[in-house]
Amino acid sequence: MTKKIYITTAIPYVNASPHIGFALEVVQADALARFYRASGYNVFFSSGADENSLKNVKAAQEAGVKTQQWVDKYAAQYEKLQDTLNLTYDAFNRTSKEHHFKGAQKLWSLCKKEDIYKKIYHGLYCVGCELFYKESELIEGRCPEHGVSPEEVEEENYFFRLSNYQKYLEKLITSNKLKIIPDTRRNEILSFIKQGLEDFSISRSFERARGWGVPVPGDDSPASTRGDLSTRGGQVMYVWFDALATYITVLGYGSDEKLFSEFWKNNPNRVHVIGKGIIRFHSVYWPAMLASAGVPLPSAEFVHGYITVEGQKISKSLGNTIDPFELVEKFGVEAVRYYLLREIPAWGDGDFSISRFKEIYNGELANGLGNLVARVARLAADTNLSLPPKKNFKFKKEVGENLKQYRFDQALIALWEEISALDKKINEEKPWELEGRTLKRVITPISSEIREIAFNLSPFLPATSEKILDQFTGKVTAQKPLFPRI
Ligand SMILES: [Zn+2]
Repeated sequence: MTKKIYITTAIPYVNASPHIGFALEVVQADALARFYRASGYNVFFSSGADENSLKNVKAAQEAGVKTQQWVDKYAAQYEKLQDTLNLTYDAFNRTSKEHHFKGAQKLWSLCKKEDIYKKIYHGLYCVGCELFYKESELIEGRCPEHGVSPEEVEEENYFFRLSNYQKYLEKLITSNKLKIIPDTRRNEILSFIKQGLEDFSISRSFERARGWGVPVPGDDSPASTRGDLSTRGGQVMYVWFDALATYITVLGYGSDEKLFSEFWKNNPNRVHVIGKGIIRFHSVYWPAMLASAGVPLPSAEFVHGYITVEGQKISKSLGNTIDPFELVEKFGVEAVRYYLLREIPAWGDGDFSISRFKEIYNGELANGLGNLVARVARLAADTNLSLPPKKNFKFKKEVGENLKQYRFDQALIALWEEISALDKKINEEKPWELEGRTLKRVITPISSEIREIAFNLSPFLPATSEKILDQFTGKVTAQKPLFPRI
């Protein structure tokens, strides 16, 4: 039977344009999807947009437009990333859509009765984070992420009895039944769990949510009498509760469940690619919610780090955000993919710098790969070399093994060592001093190796891979440089 794998990116809030950190995540996940597809797996790869956040409501209000209009506009930008970065999504899930509401409500309804209860809650809420903070977690009374004072909120909410899952989650992660990569993140979350898990709020009043979000099924909360907003009864789901459900509603959970059954229920390989800032939601809340509802859990979560820009934290106030669209327009999608996968340490944090970008582009793409391909193609064309149709190529061990461990950077470093080795071999054999049959005899294995390298590039630089393979199939021809120097 064909092996299957389901790979997801996280779904970002759509209250601003995509930045370079999210580009890293989608490119990593795409490289995985391409790798498994080329290895014969049946792959489903999904992304999407988190649209039910209170942040979106507020941003829309400030811009003076309807919330739906606002999320439509920004969701479209995230969807556009698919073309810009050459991503092979099978689906892009928007959580303001009907089928998602149905699926999230089904998940809620299936949670064990004893796991969901109502309680009056008083807390400090940061809308930016969509998170309640303890007094002790604030810095001078302000949110540590956003530097703003959280809102004081008091209302009756539904709570999820996370405390019931303390031992369960500990065992789940220690046993690697839910594998968290890398180990540093696994340890971090284990120590968080060991500190003791507190129940968390999974709803907010319809009123505080400004009427935006997924209604809690079967809820009959009375209308609030506080506030100056038009009051209405009822609660909507806490945005994280419904957002996490995207991973199954994109497969039709709660509506048409064919894909859900194929890629979630009856498939052991369910992988989330996420950033380190949201690990708590994915490794604690999400598995507990699924366990409560009797739905299988993800099998692995790969956690990438953050990107700084020229050594500084990305922030709007510093004005150092990097727009992936502009970057691609300037340097091309292949170079951007290469930088993200090769230069940003897959298992840690990394930096984006324009000078480093140019250095890598010229050194490794224009000179390293581009130069090698051009040299060999010229010699092969001189001797009228003709190569067989593309065959069943295989991934080199160091590429395959590293990708299975989510070590994108190590896979590329290993591949570039092969490129250097081939360069060295050519310098030693000096094929340009040969001609006729002798030249052909020397250049044939070198050309075959170029084809192997090209195939191995396919998860990372898909367009370049295809170009080289086309160039080295049938009669080899000299072509324009793959990466003109900058
Ligand atoms: Zn915050």
